[in-house]
Amino acid sequence: MYSIDQVYINGQFVTPHGEELFDLVNPTTGQLAGQVRLGDAEDARRAIAAAKAAFPAFSRTSKAERGAMLERLHAAVLARADDAAAALVEEYGGPLNTSVARSRYTARMFLDVKQVMEDHAFEKTVNTATVKLEPVGVVGIITPWNSSAWFIANKVATAIAAGCTVVVKPSELSARQNQILIESFHAAGLPPGVVNIVNGRGDVVGAELSTHPDITKISFTGSTPVGKQIARLGVDTMKRVTLELGGKSANVILDDADFARAIPTAVAACYMNNGQACIAGARLLVPAHRLEEAKALAKAAAEAVVVGDPREAAVSLGPIVTQKQYERVQRYIAIGIEEGAELLTGGLGRPAGLEAGYFVRPTVFAGVTPAMTIAREEIFGPVLSILSYETEQEAIAIANDTPYGLQAYVSSTDLARANRVADQLVAGRVHINGIHDDLIAPFGGFKQSGIGREFGPYGLEAYLEPKAILGAAAQYR
Ligand code: NAD
Repeated sequence: MYSIDQVYINGQFVTPHGEELFDLVNPTTGQLAGQVRLGDAEDARRAIAAAKAAFPAFSRTSKAERGAMLERLHAAVLARADDAAAALVEEYGGPLNTSVARSRYTARMFLDVKQVMEDHAFEKTVNTATVKLEPVGVVGIITPWNSSAWFIANKVATAIAAGCTVVVKPSELSARQNQILIESFHAAGLPPGVVNIVNGRGDVVGAELSTHPDITKISFTGSTPVGKQIARLGVDTMKRVTLELGGKSANVILDDADFARAIPTAVAACYMNNGQACIAGARLLVPAHRLEEAKALAKAAAEAVVVGDPREAAVSLGPIVTQKQYERVQRYIAIGIEEGAELLTGGLGRPAGLEAGYFVRPTVFAGVTPAMTIAREEIFGPVLSILSYETEQEAIAIANDTPYGLQAYVSSTDLARANRVADQLVAGRVHINGIHDDLIAPFGGFKQSGIGREFGPYGLEAYLEPKAILGAAAQYR
């Protein structure tokens, strides 16, 4: 049993004012693994005060000074990458192979952001004006459990690059991963108050950040309903918001695609991160005349997925994060069956031999229509829905028939055609022929998948406020 009983304020690990103890359960075993003591609104206010006090000096630091901090952060986070990966596996059920890579990537983010900052012009001339990009102020960062350290690292790195100070409210379910990250931040020797981290409940610490007048901006990643709530809470103090919210991404397989490659990749795009990814390609759109071929390939790919203890190297699908989320996924599988979708593989209950933890059977439904609940709502588990279409235009219409617009995928052997379709998909990112990595390209959602972008220059601009100086060189005569 581990116990996490401190928060990080003004460069120090301190006992929180809040006294609530929150149980941390290992999703692989279903057993209690530890407890975290949660901060409360008073802790949030102390952290905000520390960030506010640190802001004037930090906002005036040079690119070189902030670049040096980002380098130290990279080294400190990398030094703990193996510990972070172990925590990801144990606390969240992330498969070992992807968790190690992700933890290294988390460290890498600080160098990527440093490069973006160095390349970015913080002063420009626009017509007659000199435009200075100033740090927006004290930023409240609120993150989910499904990739905790990674989201925090990106947001903190970008805020530092911009010259902002921050208060982070991570998911209460990720306390162990967060603890390792905080220790790394501390080891990097940042000025006190630049980064503060308060574990706590969303409706307590998160709500305090969302309403406090000294927080200028909220950068939030999480569900669409909570994102809307944060935007509502923040409007009275006119907070800037970056909202990275939910998705129901379409994966459009055109009729000339290489199905033998595209369909297994599509299954992987749905099951990534144990199916708990905002960018999961949860809707697979295939041409009606090749439906049977797609069904057979999808079924085979899903049945080849090794589900189990995420510490084992061969496992690519671990458990769902909590009992509550497990039940939610089960409910969606039951709804899919009730509404008449064809269950190709998987289904209700746990896979054989995995009765203790929160394991879901890799599931594929065919015969899904756009009106069905499983085609419309974010499930957040390894459940793929296959829909069929007659024409390319119909495929595009189905893909766009969603309140979300985070990501989309398209496969075709004709690249010009794939690009033409990509142009018509309403999504913040479109992947052509596979799943690509680029952490400098903008990331974020159209429609109810959010507001704003992260990563690269667009992500950095979201932490900066333009100030136009007119008559900078003018003299009264
Ligand atoms: P969630 O919205 O329940 O919680 C996210 C964070 O918000 C947590 O830290 C939580 O404590 C906090 N919170 C909850 N209520 C709050 C309130 N009233 N005020 C302020 N903060 C509050 O999301 P989750 O269940 O942790 O994560 C899964 C969701 O996140 C999915 O919908 C997924 O699509 C989304 N997500 C989006 C992205 C993206 O980049 N677009 C990435 C990952 C996850």
